[in-house]
Amino acid sequence: MIKTEGLILKEQSVGENDKLVTVLTRSNGIIRCFARRAKKLISNVSSACQVMTFSRLEITERRDKYIITSAEVIKSFFEIFSDMNSLALGYYLCELSIRMIPENMPSEDHLQLLLNCLYAASEKIKPPDMIKAVFEIRIMLLDGVMPDILFCSECGAYDSENDTMHYDPIANKLFCPKCCYQKGNIRQCITVSMGCITAARYCISAHPKKILSFQLSEHSMLDFGKFAERFILARNDFYCPTLDFYKSVKNL
Ligand SMILES: [Zn+2]
Repeated sequence: MIKTEGLILKEQSVGENDKLVTVLTRSNGIIRCFARRAKKLISNVSSACQVMTFSRLEITERRDKYIITSAEVIKSFFEIFSDMNSLALGYYLCELSIRMIPENMPSEDHLQLLLNCLYAASEKIKPPDMIKAVFEIRIMLLDGVMPDILFCSECGAYDSENDTMHYDPIANKLFCPKCCYQKGNIRQCITVSMGCITAARYCISAHPKKILSFQLSEHSMLDFGKFAERFILARNDFYCPTLDFYKSVKNL
């Protein structure tokens, strides 16, 4: 018997009454568990096994299968369901977690990151685009990859006179305007404001509890969102349908 806490990342129907849920647990990382009778309203596990719910779980292992025998809600991020942008973000963060976190590996830091970001989204503490970008950068850090944005990779410049730098997402390198033009790299780079670079530098060094404690202008937010998404997509070849959903909701 495993007694743990876990965040439900995904739920799928199995037969008439059962569910198969993908859970990011505190003790075992990501595992897939059967929840019997979870679709029946009278079931004690029903509400605690809904997606984006953080629950106290008792899980038994039978013939290589995990089965949830008891579940109780600790925190339900129900406010997220009242706003399409936040909801689409929540689904994307859960899908990204499933794709990036290996199964059956303790992943306490990932759990904390996801809980912090879902809380911020449900309480509308920061705009969805900012939470998305911070999550993308931080989950990559947990994967051992850091965006190389401290200095121009050629001359070591820390900032630029015209308030812009250039980032090559494929090479993961930062260039000041002069070096970018000299190297002929402009086509594969995205142009980002110093506000974006400052935010990204903050994001990679911030304490886990302070990852969202910064401000961004609207212009820098656009750059920061583009930067984080290009950074994560350049290093992973998976496709996330929920990212398309997030973008389609944003453009409504
Ligand atoms: Zn330079």
